[in-house]
Amino acid sequence: MRPSVVLLDLNLPDSQGAETFRKVLAKAPDVPVVILSGQDDEALAVKALHQGAQDYLVKGALARGELDRAMRHAMERQALLRSLEMSRKQQLEFKNRFLSHVSHELRTPLTCIHQFVTILLDGLAGEINPEQREHLNTVFRSVNQLGAMVRDLLEASRAESGKIRIERRCVAISDLMRAAVAMMQAIADEKRVALEINVDDDIPYVHGDPDRILEVLINLIDNGIKFTPENGKVTVQAARVQADPDFVFVSVADTGCGIAPQARALIFEPLYQESDAIDGGRKGLGLGLYISKELVNLHGGQVWVASDPGNGSTFSFTLPLYLLEKLLMPVITSDGKLRDRLMLVRVDLRPNAKPPRASWKEVCRQSLELLGHCVQPGRDLVLPPMAAAGPEQTFFVAASTDSAGAEVMAARIREQMQSLPELRASGNFTVSAQPVSTAGFTPAVHLPDKWRQWRSA
Ligand code: ADP
Repeated sequence: MRPSVVLLDLNLPDSQGAETFRKVLAKAPDVPVVILSGQDDEALAVKALHQGAQDYLVKGALARGELDRAMRHAMERQALLRSLEMSRKQQLEFKNRFLSHVSHELRTPLTCIHQFVTILLDGLAGEINPEQREHLNTVFRSVNQLGAMVRDLLEASRAESGKIRIERRCVAISDLMRAAVAMMQAIADEKRVALEINVDDDIPYVHGDPDRILEVLINLIDNGIKFTPENGKVTVQAARVQADPDFVFVSVADTGCGIAPQARALIFEPLYQESDAIDGGRKGLGLGLYISKELVNLHGGQVWVASDPGNGSTFSFTLPLYLLEKLLMPVITSDGKLRDRLMLVRVDLRPNAKPPRASWKEVCRQSLELLGHCVQPGRDLVLPPMAAAGPEQTFFVAASTDSAGAEVMAARIREQMQSLPELRASGNFTVSAQPVSTAGFTPAVHLPDKWRQWRSA
């Protein structure tokens, strides 16, 4: 039965002071605790108060009825705290439901306006004169801006309720940087801001969700352009830093207005905006950096800013490397020792059409799930997917078995995949098993050369 209140003597024979309180807190976090301390450990009791105890009493200095009163008050205070916490949670939930509902509902009419303005602009409803075109272009831009705000609202409410999911794979960050720059080039040109990219081709692969990383890059580049005046420059870079060898450092630097020191910590908070921003024309909701921070944190990375007001800002974030050694560790070690050989089964998926049909992502998801059913937990392992060039997808399965075991697994995968109707309808696949030496596996190497060749084969 759950106790209503705990009276805790800090000086129990089998446990001491803070340790005693920590144990009780871990076992019964919701139960109010009143501390009983000796004359000489009162400081410890006060510390326990800061950590969540409701009250403390000093042995030998108790007035009549004080114990009874302290216990009753502790229970009442705890109940009050619980109800405050509950109502805070309810409010947060309501706010998130409201935001999510409103932004969902706004999407439908927005899509409709977008479609019909496009029809008018394309001349499908008849000729339009230059003045009408100009007005329609203004509507078109505003609708796109509204659409971006609604997306941000939805994303922020998802972030607040912990509902953002990331699907990690092996990602070439340089490809994503080039894609983001290509997508933002027109906006930079329009504003006469140079957009540069600086990335080594041998920058390691990262372990992340490509769509989400692209979102972060676009947010930062968009801000860089937005807060940089004409003839300025935005540079996107990626590098490895010796002090943190398991991460890639990505940065977006601009030569814009910069950020005052007191604002630097606040800009990652939801809804924060500087009032005197230089570009009033393309305002957001102050959610972009908040969403970016949440996305980077979900990857296990960090985001921060350095800025020289008047001369520009550099936003940086880290992303974890795709470290095969780490991912393979459960299968490449046996009794604490590294196995010297490992069988890998590679599964390649290719769509029949280019671009692939919209359901191709779903086909890949189902295939990956199927691979999960073909491996033996503890002995084999499915690695996060690796992207081959273009829309094709590659999956790796690592197996710790001998070659015969891996061949059996490959045959099983082949058979199972043949029975996937969606895959048969829209793509094809190959499955091959191959031994790989683990000799090149050292913590500093993210992808042994052999793997690199195999990947590009
Ligand atoms: P918004 O979508 O409104 O730009 P963000 O969350 O992306 O929201 O940014 C919040 C605020 O941080 C901006 O309003 C601006 O004041 C500041 N900020 C962001 N990026 C930059 C930058 N590159 N240079 C100067 N200020 C910036």
